[in-house]
Amino acid sequence: MTGGILCAMSAPYEIRQFGDPVLRRRADEITDVDDKLVRLADDMVHTMYEAPGVGLAAPQVGVEKRLFVYDIGDGPEIIINPVIDEFDGEWTFEEGCLSVPNLSWEIVRPKEVHLTGFDLDGNEVSLEADEYLARVFQHELDHLDGILLIERLDEDDRKVALRTLRERTMAADAAAQASASRFGGLRLR
Ligand code: ZN
Repeated sequence: MTGGILCAMSAPYEIRQFGDPVLRRRADEITDVDDKLVRLADDMVHTMYEAPGVGLAAPQVGVEKRLFVYDIGDGPEIIINPVIDEFDGEWTFEEGCLSVPNLSWEIVRPKEVHLTGFDLDGNEVSLEADEYLARVFQHELDHLDGILLIERLDEDDRKVALRTLRERTMAADAAAQASASRFGGLRLR
């Protein structure tokens, strides 16, 4: 997917990964929609398409602002200061996250939501969403509150998930250390 907005002009961000403290902090309300924010939104859309993903929240690119972008096939959308004020039903869906790559879990969440927020022109948006879009909204809004999908798992699944992620982090650290000591050894001689 290439996207319709000025993607060619912007460089993608690096997506922050599980373990990065920025993913655990509550993002701040946006008070001004200025050129910088428009640029950020554009870069986030580009980063989302590059990943590729269907949604991306600002903390995932290290920016602690209440903003997310998404595209479920109808073109990119940007929501500023989103709030979900109504939830209904229950729906199970296999959910993944760009910040916790290559893993997914069946997660139960409300099936329908009503979301309000603002677009980049400062207009209020009011959206009813069901199933997949409702899932995207809840997942991205969680990111703005410092919540990762792992916290939506039941106790047993969460334990297994955290163990998997710990092992993965240790393997990556060991590989980095092995590489560092090789270079360190060269420096010493
Ligand atoms: Zn995510």
